Amino acid sequence: MIQDIEPHVFKNQYERRSPEGEDFVFAFKGRNLLIKKDEDRIYVPRVKDISAAEDELIYIFAIDDKRFYIYFPAEEKEIELQGFEYATLRTLRAAQPMALSFAGETAWHLYLWYRDNRFCGRCGSRTQFHLKERAMECPECGNVIYPKIAPAVIVGITDGDSIVVTRYKGREYKGIALVAGFCEIGESMEDTVRREVMEEVGLKVKNIRYYKSQPWGFDQNILAGYYCELDGERKITRQEDELSVAEWITRDELQEQTNIISLTAEMIENFRRNGNINK
Ligand SMILES: [Zn+2]
Repeated sequence: MIQDIEPHVFKNQYERRSPEGEDFVFAFKGRNLLIKKDEDRIYVPRVKDISAAEDELIYIFAIDDKRFYIYFPAEEKEIELQGFEYATLRTLRAAQPMALSFAGETAWHLYLWYRDNRFCGRCGSRTQFHLKERAMECPECGNVIYPKIAPAVIVGITDGDSIVVTRYKGREYKGIALVAGFCEIGESMEDTVRREVMEEVGLKVKNIRYYKSQPWGFDQNILAGYYCELDGERKITRQEDELSVAEWITRDELQEQTNIISLTAEMIENFRRNGNINK
């Protein structure tokens, strides 16, 4: 998966640092990211390549000894750099090196949070960087705002050698998916699994088992993957406004998932190869 970048090490400890020439900078515009592309390889600009004031760069994390910043000017500004372009974030889903893709989507998650918290949601004053931890702080009312991470579940519904796959309506991603959805306040993740399965495909499930999780900065999520088994009627009632397809498919019919950056792809491939490992 995209976060599995071994032997590289992701270091997200909060620090306030001054940028150095060789450090990397992620600059965003809309849902696009400033990169240079060479087939599926991507390159990210360095501090020395761009003209940015020190206070326009926020240190976010390091991978090994490579440090990453986001470009965060007080007013929206665009960087123009020879050979680089603002490419859609989706580019990262099929780009090399994967550690840089992971860095890019995680930077995007942090960028959105910084962007959306320039002002205090309690009193409306301009916020400041917290000195000791990754948080924004309101100098007027003391409100401390931490990064927002939205939990969501991915669900593999199985019945013997079959699994329910879906296709979303009106999304850029056209491949097969699994039932998925955000946790609502007051729910356990298992509650979310039961509710989303019922809403999207109208099935009852049992034996809900946790599989793995994944940080998914593209949509500001932490994803938790669960497998579960059909409990009762096999007939699918598709949620028509969200899904264009929802169907049972057998392990033999599933195509090998070759690009396993997402938890969804990993869960589908795991089921294709190993069947229901929960039994
Ligand atoms: Zn405030």
